[in-house]
Amino acid sequence: MSPQSIFEKLWNSHHILTDEGESLMYVDVALAQENTLHAFTALEKAKRKVLHPQQIYAFTDHYVPTTGRAKGPAGIPDAGIRNMVIDMQDMAKKYGVTLFGMAHRDQGIMHIVPPEQGIIQPGLFVIGNDSHTSTHGAFGCLAYGVGASEFAHVMATQALWQRKPKAMRITIDGKLGFGVSAKDVILALIAKIGVDGATGYAMEYAGSTIAALSMEGRMTICNMSIEAGGRVGLIAPDDKTYAYVEGRQYAPKGKAWQQALDGWRALATDAGATFDKEVTLDAASIAPTATWGVNPSQALPVTGVVPDPAGIKDPQQRSEYETALEYMALRPGMGLQDIKLDRVFIGSCTNGRIEDLRAAAEVAKHGRAVVPTWVVPGSMSVMRQAEAEGLDKIFIKAGFEWRDPGCSMCTAINGDYLQPGERCASTSNRNFRNRQGPGGRTHLVSPAMAAAAAIKGHLTDVREILK
Ligand code: SF4
Repeated sequence: MSPQSIFEKLWNSHHILTDEGESLMYVDVALAQENTLHAFTALEKAKRKVLHPQQIYAFTDHYVPTTGRAKGPAGIPDAGIRNMVIDMQDMAKKYGVTLFGMAHRDQGIMHIVPPEQGIIQPGLFVIGNDSHTSTHGAFGCLAYGVGASEFAHVMATQALWQRKPKAMRITIDGKLGFGVSAKDVILALIAKIGVDGATGYAMEYAGSTIAALSMEGRMTICNMSIEAGGRVGLIAPDDKTYAYVEGRQYAPKGKAWQQALDGWRALATDAGATFDKEVTLDAASIAPTATWGVNPSQALPVTGVVPDPAGIKDPQQRSEYETALEYMALRPGMGLQDIKLDRVFIGSCTNGRIEDLRAAAEVAKHGRAVVPTWVVPGSMSVMRQAEAEGLDKIFIKAGFEWRDPGCSMCTAINGDYLQPGERCASTSNRNFRNRQGPGGRTHLVSPAMAAAAAIKGHLTDVREILK
């Protein structure tokens, strides 16, 4: 057999049949959130059942408030938000799917809880009703975001029609510099290839830099693959992956663990496998990075200056830069570190894990927040771990606000949002217009950079604080 990439192996092992260029794929795990209510409603209208409820997991994360949760969903003041949470929880119970609801001791974001629980294991095909389902590719999974109608199809049949993406490999080699994290790596990559640089591709990350990253760092990278247009972002599993999964609640145990390991070890890309597109990146060239514009590719080393559209030849790109600067209210040529902030947000499925909070707390020890700064753990489990390590106390002492788990200000549909015109350094994944609230302005950064921005009140090179 000719050498195969991990993507080919995953695709072939889930492929059922092909018809008119589309493949029917078997789905192992499906992840729902409050907006999946529409899929449940569609199922109800069609009088269909959930075929394998034990393979569907539901989360309350997008709409849950991150303070004042003592009364549960009934205590959510906004009726629209309250009904989304209550209806979703009711629907999950009605159809018998596992629910990580608002009162669950392990509640949290749908891309943080499943790996913590061991639901995500190498070799699976995971779909989720959220584009950042690509996060789970960090475990050597095929992981897609799908819409509500596709999700309803999966609940009814445990299968999904998909057009096969092309294969792309991104090789990142070398040691990351001081103060540089996985978030800087993925922002630098998207800045290099653009927001459509991986459109139509399944992205495999390889190289010594990726191998050296923790599972948390790998999840950050795969999470943002979608921001480069990638359908899938994945990393071959290795000993770090197996060590992360072992012993978790849903992970195989005993003899089944050994059998699973044997299968997982065969997943890595074979030597000589070919790709439709190859990209390389030198880790040593990556600096702490911040976005200045309205998509994640509009990013630069924090030591840089806001670009001048006048110097851009391509008229379309020039116009995009002009409108981005207008929305962001920035002047060409001004230093990124001169950009003053109104708020800082540390959290989300990109950077709401324990390692992210440790990195932010390390910086928070060096000062006090001069702008309102929220720290929102990605899950109850992350929250408990952080509190056991005393990170909450470090944040509170530094004037940061310690909140309950959820998507919070990543998406601004839960009561947490920017006021019009407010400017925020954020560890989330999208700096689109209005993403964090109507008229809000977002600068994407790493957790350490966000904490540095909090104690300075402007975008800041975290290396200056940590050195
Ligand atoms: S944190 Fe943001 S990107 Fe992640 S699942 Fe929630 S809303 Fe989606």
